[in-house]
Amino acid sequence: MKVAVVGAGIGGLAAACGLQRLGADVSVLERAVAPPASGSGLSVFGNGWAALDAVGVGDAARAVAGGQVRDLRAGQRRPDGSWLTTTPPGALRDLRILHRADLQQVLLDALAPGTARFGADVTEALPSGEVTTAAGASSERFDLVVAADGIRSRIRASWGRDPGTRYSGYSAWRGITREPVDLLGAAGETWGAGRRFGCAPLRDGRVYWFAVATMPATAVVQDEHAAVVDLVGDWHEPIGSLLACTDPAAVVRHPVSDLARPLPSFRRGRTVLLGDAAHAMTPDLGQGGNQAMEDAATLAALLGGLRGDLHGYAQPDPDRVDRALADYDRLRRRRTQPIARRARTVGRVAQARGRVTVPLRDAALRATPPSALDRAARVVQDWRPPAPGDPRVP
Ligand SMILES: Cc1cc2nc3c(=O)[nH]c(=O)nc-3n(C[C@H](O)[C@H](O)[C@H](O)COP(=O)(O)OP(=O)(O)OC[C@H]3O[C@@H](n4cnc5c(N)ncnc54)[C@H](O)[C@@H]3O)c2cc1C
Repeated sequence: MKVAVVGAGIGGLAAACGLQRLGADVSVLERAVAPPASGSGLSVFGNGWAALDAVGVGDAARAVAGGQVRDLRAGQRRPDGSWLTTTPPGALRDLRILHRADLQQVLLDALAPGTARFGADVTEALPSGEVTTAAGASSERFDLVVAADGIRSRIRASWGRDPGTRYSGYSAWRGITREPVDLLGAAGETWGAGRRFGCAPLRDGRVYWFAVATMPATAVVQDEHAAVVDLVGDWHEPIGSLLACTDPAAVVRHPVSDLARPLPSFRRGRTVLLGDAAHAMTPDLGQGGNQAMEDAATLAALLGGLRGDLHGYAQPDPDRVDRALADYDRLRRRRTQPIARRARTVGRVAQARGRVTVPLRDAALRATPPSALDRAARVVQDWRPPAPGDPRVP
């Protein structure tokens, strides 16, 4: 079975790993000319680890991940450092932070040499499986196209009635300290009025941090590092130390957007959407990448039932492929769309900035019982890819 994966982000590469393990002939087409050399941190939770295990790279990814978050006190604090809520340890049990570029390298290393073609900008992918790249004189035909081309997916847009993206009203800065910084036994987030800060350790003791502020998407900022210092530099320690230990040139800001409306389908013919292309969500639950990896593991598990058909250039039974893709579409919309909705709600609450809404929000957080936090975390994190006889697959 010939598979094109469009996009070498976390989702596309995880899908390529899962499908290549099944024996499919996979090509990853990525428009960037090389894999990213830098980047920020990425929170991977239990569900993301289950997905990485299923596509065969869990151990290699754990080897480059930090393992310490559950050993720290985490939750939400006020800018003066007092705790609003402590996350129950069960909700953090599998959380590890990775450097994004490390995860992408682990995924690339797991693929056969030559699988990923960089500098391949896909201009068209038809539901029939025809894929055209900007550089290619002619199109190439695939049995399956996995469109993992990100939040502004060109393939999704070509299907028509694309809901497009919605700016959340806030933007996020991210940074990694140049050297290890002592987190003083705590991680997690600090919530102020219309602004937030969060941090967690990487494997080598350096710290990944982010800051979020309500602002126009198009705001022009002369010095991104100085803007973060202005926002949260006088909050509790170790925030000031983390900012002082971060190279200003390495601080990046992104407007936070999600898909404006949920899609009615992730599938058109022999093409499926995966990751942000299918269900871009705000990062307020740290789940966009985890859900992209779940998509990848689910697609591989469902097509795994056709294992004999997938090898090399063999023509798979079209009816069985159709059924597997229909199951993928149904399972993944049912799983991801409620999570995207919840992320949007959490973002709205977290960015509260009114003189009435902030104390109300803080009081509600203080009053939330740990059992409710634990239950909410488990709904997202306790996930396994579908297995034969799984009640989720009729
Ligand atoms: C501030 C912030 C913090 C976040 N934190 C977390 C977190 O802690 N945990 C988490 O799980 N998620 C997090 N996310 C979300 C996560 O980053 C995304 O959900 C994830 O990267 C999506 O992966 P993807 O592979 O679907 O898309 P992308 O990573 O966007 O990859 C898409 C790829 O497709 C390529 N491409 C696009 N168009 C074409 C084309 N026409 N032809 C060929 N290639 C193309 C692009 O160059 C890119 O490489 C965060 C997001 C933000 C903004």
